[in-house]
Amino acid sequence: MTRCWLRTSRLARRPEAVRIHVTYTGGTIGMIDSPHGLVPGADLEGWLGTLLGESASGQDLGRKDVTLTALSPLIDSSNATPESWQLIIDDLRTTAAGPTPPDAFIVLHGTDTMAYTSAALSYALTDLSQPVVITGSQLPLGVVGSDAAPNVTGALRAAVSGRADGITLFFGHRLLAGNRATKTSSWAFRGFDSPSVAPLALTGAPWQWSEPAAGGRGWDGPARPYARHDVAVIDLVPGVTAARLEAMVTPQPEAVILRAFGVGNVPSDEPGLTNVVADLIEAGVAVVVTSQCHQAEVLLGHYETGDAIARAGAVGSRDMTLEAVYAKVQFLLSQGLRGAELAAWVGRSIAGELTESRG
Ligand code: ASP
Repeated sequence: MTRCWLRTSRLARRPEAVRIHVTYTGGTIGMIDSPHGLVPGADLEGWLGTLLGESASGQDLGRKDVTLTALSPLIDSSNATPESWQLIIDDLRTTAAGPTPPDAFIVLHGTDTMAYTSAALSYALTDLSQPVVITGSQLPLGVVGSDAAPNVTGALRAAVSGRADGITLFFGHRLLAGNRATKTSSWAFRGFDSPSVAPLALTGAPWQWSEPAAGGRGWDGPARPYARHDVAVIDLVPGVTAARLEAMVTPQPEAVILRAFGVGNVPSDEPGLTNVVADLIEAGVAVVVTSQCHQAEVLLGHYETGDAIARAGAVGSRDMTLEAVYAKVQFLLSQGLRGAELAAWVGRSIAGELTESRG
């Protein structure tokens, strides 16, 4: 992937306007048909200029001064990597440090891995003073009935509301905490949910806002850039053997995320299975246990079936989504943490991605 920006352009300029910077990364929102399926290629810049120009004259959205950076290459977010997260972070930081820093950022992104990116951004940008709202759409902007326009104008409205803080995700008339969100539908206009916390806002007349869930920012100071680390995400299934699990962690990854059952239970009667986990931990590989449940609080030790791997040193992911856990492990590895040191951070909030304790 080329580490450069395609172009930065000014879409609308108005005196005393609220300044918005849009980072366009790709995704269905700007795609067009090709003989091999949808690919980036729509005139997103022109469309956005018209949309925001019109919106900017509306009473609700006020005056806007909008700049746009289109990353190169524009990608289907299925091709995103931790390096792609870093490209977005670099654009936001460069723009924030520029001569006319924006009041808020909007990131246009494919929906497939949007929740991974929004979680990743939240860890790396705890010190960014402007809000960042990430959005995209299920249908391209050129399709009649597309959700592209309502999602972008909703993101804009959230961005200038003065109430959106940190990294949030706007989609299907709801504003969600960026590191609490997960994609729940490949087709519904309400394609995202935050299963463990309430939406931050629902659109309407007027919008209904709720208090953000408690969960402090625990990471101080600058973060090292994301680099791609070898993290294995493994789903346990009834009947999995120790030999199969062993094969799935060979060669040894830098960290393992085990998607277990319920509150973090593993088939502890399966001969040798717990030993595979114990051996990994002994070799300095952090093992994070998460749940296959859409909504879960992982509590290792609640059942005997989770206790054995907890005793071996595995840590539970509490109520984090898979996206939040995966991006967090990539973040911690990128900071140089390994093994027990990394595991110690899993249950601590970096940017409000988990509920630290339930009363
Ligand atoms: N494959 C697309 C992407 O994630 C899907 C979308 O944007 O809705 O880039």
